[in-house]
Amino acid sequence: MTNSIAQAGEALAGFIERHPKLWVLTGAGVSTDSGIPDYRDADGQWKRPPPVQHGDFMASLAVRQRYWARALIGFKALREAQVSGAHRALAALEAMGYVELLVTQNVDRLHQRAGSRKVIDLHGRADMVGCMSCGYQLMRHAMHSEMASMNPHFAALDAGHAPDGDADLETDFSMFKILDCPRCKGILKPQVVYYGDVVPSARRLAAQVGLENADAVLAVGTSLMVYSGYRFCRDAHAMGLPVASLSLGVTRADALLTHQWRAPLTPVLEQAVSCLQRRLLD
Ligand SMILES: [Zn+2]
Repeated sequence: MTNSIAQAGEALAGFIERHPKLWVLTGAGVSTDSGIPDYRDADGQWKRPPPVQHGDFMASLAVRQRYWARALIGFKALREAQVSGAHRALAALEAMGYVELLVTQNVDRLHQRAGSRKVIDLHGRADMVGCMSCGYQLMRHAMHSEMASMNPHFAALDAGHAPDGDADLETDFSMFKILDCPRCKGILKPQVVYYGDVVPSARRLAAQVGLENADAVLAVGTSLMVYSGYRFCRDAHAMGLPVASLSLGVTRADALLTHQWRAPLTPVLEQAVSCLQRRLLD
């Protein structure tokens, strides 16, 4: 273990002891150790084309054909991803009583699989699909197996995995057949808040209530470039709460941060958990 990781872990443990009602905000960095790629580099810039926009998805059949054809390949990686040490360490912090609420910008449900219970999926969940007209819901894997049998040629293709269950496939998508809502023939869409859409207000309010009951914010593995996450750091700062960040790169909230550790997430979180466990035993 390098000094910097040990020191960051110690410092983070001290921060958590002083602020034991954490409002934790997580982003893509928490899931990259699970093999799920992210969109941005250490400077917070796009390192690949930005994801689909909500308005384009709803307006264009061609966009939806491309989306679902690529997802047929890419979603397997999301489904098969395993929880990382970072997910487990955050679940351990909750079990030790240090987490008031964990708000994640990830849609992979890996926090829940690691054992975290107080979780808000701010941007929704990729494993469910909903009808944009009647609200009918179905599991994503059921829709995928249906579409795989409707499109055997596409189902047999392979391509590199991309963030959010996407794949780097470029071909003619115009023949791809999409499953429509079995109840009303409406447009089916993953229950994920796309770029250009807004977080449902009830969910945003639940996250806000958690913030009001917390005594500090800890952002983990997020560049905070997306406004829906950044706004909570800005609100916390306005409320006088300390805002700390553990991530590899810069964040949009750097100017607001009271503590910042630019270090690999999993070893620092694991180090912090073991420090806290040792102190509990002392
Ligand atoms: Zn419907």
